[in-house]
Amino acid sequence: MNLQLIFLGAPGSGKGTQAKRLKDELGYEHLSTGDLLRNEIAKNTKLGQEVRKIISSGQLVDDVTAITLLKLNCDLTKKNYIFDGFPRTLNQAKMLEEEVLKNYGYRAVYFEMDFDQLVKRVEYRRVCGNCGKIFNLIFSPPKIEGVCDQCGEAKLDHREDDKEKILRKRFEIFTTTISPVNAFYQQKNVLLKINASGDQDTIFHKIKDIIS
Ligand code: AMP
Repeated sequence: MNLQLIFLGAPGSGKGTQAKRLKDELGYEHLSTGDLLRNEIAKNTKLGQEVRKIISSGQLVDDVTAITLLKLNCDLTKKNYIFDGFPRTLNQAKMLEEEVLKNYGYRAVYFEMDFDQLVKRVEYRRVCGNCGKIFNLIFSPPKIEGVCDQCGEAKLDHREDDKEKILRKRFEIFTTTISPVNAFYQQKNVLLKINASGDQDTIFHKIKDIIS
């Protein structure tokens, strides 16, 4: 099982949830450029200060910044990766191929989902600020209100960019930038589209089928 995985999909399409499960059950490394960027902001690094405004306004950071951060955080000679939230643009897809994936085998998985359902998922999404577990106040609420089931911390955050106005901007950008990325992987015959509104187990098994 040596395939690298690229997860493509709009905010809320379930990429992060599936990636965490593949990490726990199959030992993949989950690399989310969104998480890496938020981490830089939380640590108030120079990069964090530079990208804070861009992220809170729902825009994309520039391609070179994104790939540089990604490259600093992965080593394909040692691990298999799930790239979550990268690439976002055709240029990033080309850079990923040339500078990171090189001759490694990989598949791209596109999480397809209806826009209205996505809005619901993301608006009600809460992320544990301590361990990263993802909840949804409607579909998968924590057992005790406001408290993480996994680590017990009362620190369930509503990301600024998950709030409606910014969310709309993120969807708009996603819709315009994803088509050439999908076309790039389709042409290479490595793209699999899955219906991301299905239940989590079914989606998980579909992904497992691809890599086994
Ligand atoms: P995400 O958690 O993947 O939804 O990412 C949150 C935000 O981080 C995005 O709205 C962008 O501002 C930024 N971001 C994450 N990944 C990338 C990327 N590959 N290229 C550019 N910006 C990104």
